[in-house]
Amino acid sequence: MSADRKVTDDPTTWSPATQLVHGGTLRSQFGETSEAIFLTQGFVYKSAEQAEARFKNEDPGYQYSRFANPTVSMLEERIRLLEGAEDSRATGSGMAAVTAAILSRLSAGDHIVSARALFGSCRYIVEDLCPRFGIAATLVDGRDLDAWKDAVRPNTKAFFFETPANPTLELVDIAEVSKIAHAAGAIVIVDNVFATPMLQRPIEHGADVVVYSATKHIDGQGRCLGGLVLASNAFVKDYLHDFLRQTGPAMSPFNAWVMLKGLETLPVRVNAQCASAAVIADVLAAHPRITKVLYPGRDDHPQAAIARKQMTGGGQIVTFDVDGDKATVFRFLNALAIARISNNLGDSKSLVTHPATTTHQRLKPEVRQELGIGDGMVRLSVGLEAVDDLVVDLQSALDAAFR
Ligand SMILES: *Cc1c(COP(=O)(O)O)cnc(C)c1O
Repeated sequence: MSADRKVTDDPTTWSPATQLVHGGTLRSQFGETSEAIFLTQGFVYKSAEQAEARFKNEDPGYQYSRFANPTVSMLEERIRLLEGAEDSRATGSGMAAVTAAILSRLSAGDHIVSARALFGSCRYIVEDLCPRFGIAATLVDGRDLDAWKDAVRPNTKAFFFETPANPTLELVDIAEVSKIAHAAGAIVIVDNVFATPMLQRPIEHGADVVVYSATKHIDGQGRCLGGLVLASNAFVKDYLHDFLRQTGPAMSPFNAWVMLKGLETLPVRVNAQCASAAVIADVLAAHPRITKVLYPGRDDHPQAAIARKQMTGGGQIVTFDVDGDKATVFRFLNALAIARISNNLGDSKSLVTHPATTTHQRLKPEVRQELGIGDGMVRLSVGLEAVDDLVVDLQSALDAAFR
């Protein structure tokens, strides 16, 4: 502890864990300890004059929960502090956040470059939806800096990628790709779900906009959908604010309250899940029936140097290839006693996914092959169970699959 370090009531003097417990709290006249749920659609005014002033932006305060709501504001401020962003907005789901970040900024005639290794719905937005509205899209191998450079056109307005990507855990070098984007006058939008705000701070590496599915680690216990967009004041003012206010993908105040409580325990949960994921990745890598383990925290990850540069931990997702066909992998999944079969992730419960037949089923077989998503691939989202139980569960299920 530094002797001259001071903490004041200014939350920017607090460490991240403290910001996540206290940041953004707005106490009502009752002085409640836990944040209040303002489950209201609208607000009343003391006078017609006040209503007029509020609509002219001359009187600070709330009008309607599609625009803003006190519980949602608390969440937005808490995550904004953690991320070190100028502004933030919450949305009803992660996909609403991704869609708003992209469509609020781009118009017909513009061009977006995106990594091809994406969550299935993100890929739909870029590959199918954008072109329907006259926004050209180019998908590149996100690991290849020359591919990003070569994809730039005079009308390129944005780069978009996930790092680590779902489910292959491919990484994109945020700093290098941001340099290419900025030289071309484009902004960088990063989907930071897999890294979580605890392990990677994209804005510090050059990203302009960060999006989250708060549904995942920020809730962390599988209850509510939610999304977050973090960006500069200028981006929110010029693009995002009106898009969200007028199109209406607002987060429910109840969901915002669940997410606020989720943020309070996020560092504790993510640290524990990462520690277990690292143990499990090593156990799987040593198993004779596992042909490949992809984990950004291991030295044998193809981009381990990038992981060390921009992440402070390997994450809680481990992807691995079982040495067998679809029937073998299904026997393995069906034999698990603790880890549950699901397409979700970031939960306190360990969840396993077979991407080829679920989350990435929509992709053409050749696209799956290009991304390295084979029939043997399994994605494991490591939960908060005792790691010894998870290791025994995985080993026993592998034994059962190959019996
Ligand atoms: C889940 C997920 C999303 C979408 O979030 P929802 O809350 O389900 O809408 C977007 N990107 C990534 C990487 C995800 O894992």
